[in-house]
Amino acid sequence: MGFTIALFDIDGTLLRAGGAGRRALDLALVEVLGGRDDVSFESVEFAGRTDPWIVAEGLAKHGVEADVGLIEEVLRRYLAHLPAQLELASAFEVLPGAMELLTGLVARDDLALGLGTGNTEPAAYAKLARGGLDSFFSFGGFGSDHPERAELLRVGLHRGLQQAANGREARAVVIGDTPHDVRAARAIGADCIAVSTGGYDAKALEAAGAQLVVSDLRAPEVLRVFG
Ligand SMILES: [Mg+2]
Repeated sequence: MGFTIALFDIDGTLLRAGGAGRRALDLALVEVLGGRDDVSFESVEFAGRTDPWIVAEGLAKHGVEADVGLIEEVLRRYLAHLPAQLELASAFEVLPGAMELLTGLVARDDLALGLGTGNTEPAAYAKLARGGLDSFFSFGGFGSDHPERAELLRVGLHRGLQQAANGREARAVVIGDTPHDVRAARAIGADCIAVSTGGYDAKALEAAGAQLVVSDLRAPEVLRVFG
C-alpha cells in the first residue's frame, strides 16, 4: 500500500484563532515602529499568506522598507504577544471535524501527519496548543522556512519523507482553505483537499485546482482521499 504525507494548513482549516494573530501582530508593529499608535495590519490580507510576507506587507504599508532583520524583529515580538492574545480570544475555535479527522489519521501506519502553514513554527504550535491539536504533528513546512507557500510545502514534504517514509515513495496530500494553498499544492505535485471554512467558496477553490472541496472536515469524502 502506498504511503501518504498529509500537510495541513492551520488557520481557517483546523482552527480559527479569533483575531489573536492579528492583534499580536498589531502590538508588535506598534513596538517596532516606536510607539506610533496609528499603525496596524488593517487592510493587509492574511489568508493563505506566510507570516514573513504579511509582516513585509504591513511594514510597506507604513512606508517602512522591510529588511530581513526588521521582519524577524516584528515576528519575535509577535510571538511574545501571541500566547496571551490566544488566551484572550473568546472566538477561538477548533473547526468542525478537525479533532476527529486528526485522531483517526494519526493512528494509521500508512500515513504521516504534517503541517504546511504560513505561520512560523513556534506560532503554529502556539495556535495548535490552544486548541489541543499540537501533539498530532511532529514535522511540517512553515512560514519560518520560506516566505513562499509552495516552497514551504516542499520543505514540509521533504521532512515528512525523511522522518516517516523510511525510504518509501509517498504521495503528498495538502489540506487547506485558500486558493493560495491549492495552487501551492499543485506546484509541488500534491493532491489538495480544500475546505471552505476559511471564507473562500467552493467555486474559487475548485477553480484553483482542488481535487476535492468540502464544506468542513466532517465530510466523509475527506477520508476517501486518504484511501
Ligand atoms: Mg489557512
